[in-house]
Amino acid sequence: MAELSRREFAKLVAAVGAAASFSLQAHAATPTIAIQVGAVSFVDEGVASVLDRFQGDAGVNALLIATFSYGRGIAGRQIPGQPLPDHGKPEYDVNFHGGNYAHTHEQYYTHTSLKEIQAPDHPGFDVLASVLPEAKSRGIKSFCWYEDVFRSDLKGIERLQEVTLSGKKAGTLCFHNPEVQAFWQALTEDYIRSYPIDGIMWGSERQGPFGNAVAAAHGSSAHDPLLVTCFCNFCRQEAKSRGIDIQRTIEGYTNLAALVRESRAGSRPADGYFVSYWRLLVKYPEILAWEKLWNDGQHSTYRNIYKTAKSIRPEVEVGWHIWHNNSFSPFYRAEQDYADFRQYSDFLKVVMYNNCGGPRLASYVNSVSRTIFADFSPEEALGMTYNMQNYKEASLAELPRQGLSADYVERETRRALAGVGDRVKIWPGIDIDIPTGHDEKKTEPRDVREAVRAALHAGAHGVVLSRKYSEMRLANLRAAGEALRT
Ligand SMILES: [Zn+2]
Repeated sequence: MAELSRREFAKLVAAVGAAASFSLQAHAATPTIAIQVGAVSFVDEGVASVLDRFQGDAGVNALLIATFSYGRGIAGRQIPGQPLPDHGKPEYDVNFHGGNYAHTHEQYYTHTSLKEIQAPDHPGFDVLASVLPEAKSRGIKSFCWYEDVFRSDLKGIERLQEVTLSGKKAGTLCFHNPEVQAFWQALTEDYIRSYPIDGIMWGSERQGPFGNAVAAAHGSSAHDPLLVTCFCNFCRQEAKSRGIDIQRTIEGYTNLAALVRESRAGSRPADGYFVSYWRLLVKYPEILAWEKLWNDGQHSTYRNIYKTAKSIRPEVEVGWHIWHNNSFSPFYRAEQDYADFRQYSDFLKVVMYNNCGGPRLASYVNSVSRTIFADFSPEEALGMTYNMQNYKEASLAELPRQGLSADYVERETRRALAGVGDRVKIWPGIDIDIPTGHDEKKTEPRDVREAVRAALHAGAHGVVLSRKYSEMRLANLRAAGEALRT
């Protein structure tokens, strides 16, 4: 396919903004076509050629550069064991480490013991210094994209880690720990003061102890309910200030863990599963009080990052990646109140990955139908989920292979827009080649075209092509551009 010039493409994108849907006319703006991309792609393929491809093939006008993570979900090459895509260096980065892919400016990290965060993966390569000038000259916006994923072998990290119900250190960091807040503040300040970025996006794919105890998430069917967090001294202090009885909380969660284990073992209580779970919540309201305490910590992190960013440069756009579990668990969805996000968000990237959404939703229902919804078969739990979440897709037998449809993307886009009102932009996250299991749904160009169109048709202010360029196949990336042109 012949590549369009930048100007031609800008014209086309503007035309889509004007004509694709009635709602888009109301926004009267060019949709943001963002792509998530990690440092390794620029190192492997060169900055200019990556940007040429983004503009020419997919009409990209914003980069979400994975600047900080210890996870392979957004950084690094293709996950070992998954087929390599048709671009980039054709090998796996088995020595992937992660960290900060921009230069770390020490002066900002005085209030946290976690400061040695420089990613060793590409020595001497500063992804922001390398990409920003070229992106800017092409009129592409650049955002730092960083997430709440760590490794446990980092110097100083143990002081920041959460503590489980059973008293062990967890691999996750505690939002009520001042050093954790200081860390996110430091990283945010470092990015905004050190580089002429246009915005930031932060993500935390985690939920509170109740959701984790009942394993209400995809990929969590084997979660040990005794490992829920957080019971560190900072959280205990916070609980005290709220008048929450800590001993009663621990007792409640210990009983909850026992019930989860019995449910998984298939020993049905005389009054049934759901009644037994609900009875426990009534007997120990501390269970939900602690769930709220955890959520409040996560939301105060959003608030702190927002405040830090805006106090330095008010024009910087600040937004959040909202975890896929928002589409599955009604408990998690209840805790993601779009109206609350209005207070500290310029945009939300709501994950609406419809391809991997099939296997993930199946994984979720298989998990909860062995805990809090154990009165129901997995198929029945799926039907209940469709009713609660207001979308309807394949049967459980077909779901992992079929994925979710563009109709799901459209419905979730409308829901997000209705939730945030006028002030916050919605950029649905569209999945392109996110790895799935051997027999499970793989992304095809048609899926991408339909999902992008569905999001924009529903009135989204843009889309985020996810989750990292280094795992995307080019035909699927081009399909995003095709959706804009036709
Ligand atoms: Zn804590």
